[in-house]
Amino acid sequence: MNRSLDKFNRLVDALQELPTIGKKSATRLAYHMVMNDSFIGMKISHAIEDALGTLKKCVNCGGMSEDELCFICSDEQRDERVICIVENAKDILLLEENRLFDGRYFVLNSLDDTTIIQLESTIKQGVKEIIFALTPSISNDAVILFIEEKLISYQLNFSKIAQGVPTGVSLENIDLLSLTRALEDRVRV
Ligand SMILES: [Zn+2]
Repeated sequence: MNRSLDKFNRLVDALQELPTIGKKSATRLAYHMVMNDSFIGMKISHAIEDALGTLKKCVNCGGMSEDELCFICSDEQRDERVICIVENAKDILLLEENRLFDGRYFVLNSLDDTTIIQLESTIKQGVKEIIFALTPSISNDAVILFIEEKLISYQLNFSKIAQGVPTGVSLENIDLLSLTRALEDRVRV
């Protein structure tokens, strides 16, 4: 008879690899799924498998999508003249959840040529204004300058979120009111 709890421990270890989950939470979650509610465990397991097998990056903006083009890029009601540049695809979720922006997005994964070319091809679709919703910091100011220079020939209006957003704090850690103000009171760059 196997007296060890290898399988339980493996589940705890796996959960513990997730951000914000420590040993204690991992054990509590694993115990709940195994002993109290195996249905929720199965549900989570299927949802994870389904999401990982389906979700990909939108070819246009780099946001999370179930299709080639995400629901934002394929929505013709949205203002295609304004792009909001964000650092992570999850920043899009945050801005969308709070309905703070009506244009389209672009996820700035890196500053390499491929990313710039992709950004340019998005701009050629009729973009007139770019809003940088990057974490305010000196290094991101340099990023903004770099991109502005790359796009100088397109005669765009550039702005960045500013007031209310403390330097060095990423978007997901900013309260809704501050983020709304930061977008409304954006400054030209
Ligand atoms: Zn998209």
